[in-house]
Amino acid sequence: LVSRKKKPEDTIVNISGIKVGDGKQQFVMGPCAVESYEQVYQVAEQVKKHGIGLIRGGAFKPRTSPYDFQGLGFEGLELLRNAADAFDLKVISEIMTPSDVEKALDYVDVIQVGARNMQNFDLLKEVGKTNKPVLLKRGLAATIEEFIYAAEYIMSKGNDQIILCERGIRTYEKATRNTLDITSVPILKKETHLPVAVDVVHSTGRRDLLLPAAKAALAIGADLVMAEVHPDPAVALSDSAQQMNFEQFDSFMKAINPCVNVF
Ligand code: PEP
Ligand code: MN
Repeated sequence: LVSRKKKPEDTIVNISGIKVGDGKQQFVMGPCAVESYEQVYQVAEQVKKHGIGLIRGGAFKPRTSPYDFQGLGFEGLELLRNAADAFDLKVISEIMTPSDVEKALDYVDVIQVGARNMQNFDLLKEVGKTNKPVLLKRGLAATIEEFIYAAEYIMSKGNDQIILCERGIRTYEKATRNTLDITSVPILKKETHLPVAVDVVHSTGRRDLLLPAAKAALAIGADLVMAEVHPDPAVALSDSAQQMNFEQFDSFMKAINPCVNVF
């Protein structure tokens, strides 16, 4: 169903009025994790200031260590929803558990399926039964074929509103957190009719690489670029090494805006 051979024209994902995949390249920005109302409100204000319509923020955090901050759960989703509504932004947030999907529909505009859950088949089927857009992240060590099959799981249940998100894969290289597989973007766009996003944060794991990675993503045809913004990354409860503060966010947007829809 996701194959370009089945449907030659591009699928446009409609996020309560914001269209992804219609040719206009866009951004989704926000903190790694929702920590407090003040934090998400401040970030939402900055996101709005830059004319971006989508905010992210994790409330359910799939952390490598069980002793790390696990997120605020539904309370976090509510804080993010309220901050987003104050600035008329649409919300993207990760849901990890199939039984949480239905309740989450009240809070999010896009359900994110994280890299660690790309092959959580019960979760894929559950989000497939909804009519919410889904941002499906590529698994930590998933081939492009496995990634496409994961999207197929969602679509086979009736939901065609899927954005595929390249977020780097595990290789032997240690200079970056993961290896951004930049050519997966044109491959996914050739093989499927779905819009493709690039997460420059979790792929690189390095603040100094966010801008060049984002430029590459736009140049190679990504429909959406994801990065993280936090009022004070040094004290962030997760991903403090790669989130941008507001000043860095300003410089990032100033440098990246001329690269939108150039190629
Ligand atoms: C995230 O986007 O918050 C996240 C945890 O990313 P990933 O699933 O790609 O590691
Ligand atoms: Mn993060």
